[in-house]
Amino acid sequence: MRVVRQGEGPLFCTFTLEDGRTCGHHEVDGLGFCLWHMPDEMLEEAEEVTGHRRCRHDFGEPSACHQMAVTETDPPSCKVHGANRGSNTHKAAMGRVIEGRVQDRMVEILSENGERLLNPRQLGNPLVELLQLAAEMAEWKDIMRTIVVYLVDRQRIRSAHSKVGEQLRAEVLLYERALERLAKILQDIARLGIEAKLAAIEDRQVLVIETALAAALNASGLDIVDQQRARVVLRRELVKVSKKVS
Ligand SMILES: [Zn+2]
Ligand SMILES: [Zn+2]
Repeated sequence: MRVVRQGEGPLFCTFTLEDGRTCGHHEVDGLGFCLWHMPDEMLEEAEEVTGHRRCRHDFGEPSACHQMAVTETDPPSCKVHGANRGSNTHKAAMGRVIEGRVQDRMVEILSENGERLLNPRQLGNPLVELLQLAAEMAEWKDIMRTIVVYLVDRQRIRSAHSKVGEQLRAEVLLYERALERLAKILQDIARLGIEAKLAAIEDRQVLVIETALAAALNASGLDIVDQQRARVVLRRELVKVSKKVS
């Protein structure tokens, strides 16, 4: 007995072939036709039920293609109409399939670790955290590089095996992503380093101004109260200026 596929009903497709026989495939449940013979206006509904899509080449024309589309092609395309192996359409579709798998796995992991996510640890100094993150990212990048190198070597030996190729695409994607993210984090750290240095320079300038003011006030012969008042005014003015600058 044949396996009933997703969305298939117990009845048969009612489409009549050129030789007068009926199609013989199972119908999409309740719709009266198989996906191949589904009338155009019911196609989207049938695709939703079955999870498969039909090639849209010449859609609505007598010459329309009725082949099943390669998963995740957009618009849906079969191997004859743009989604042949190695084509950009096929690669993009594979990318979306892999992306979908990654998303599914992420949802699983998130739900398995709900408790930890609800009670995250306290963050330390952002710069220290960022350096730690960069270290982890660099380690992850190295791990992915080792895996990709291993898979490329293995594929060279058994290049006929298509499964390895598909797996390799996922690993290469993860490796590329790790590279990009590490580069971004390192850029941020470099930028933050500059900012920290700028802050240090500003602190030094304030110290210079305050020292000069103290010397000037000492020389002015003002009493302590007036000296204090002058300091307050200067500080207020400095705050105003620094707000305008930043
Ligand atoms: Zn049919
Ligand atoms: Zn086609």
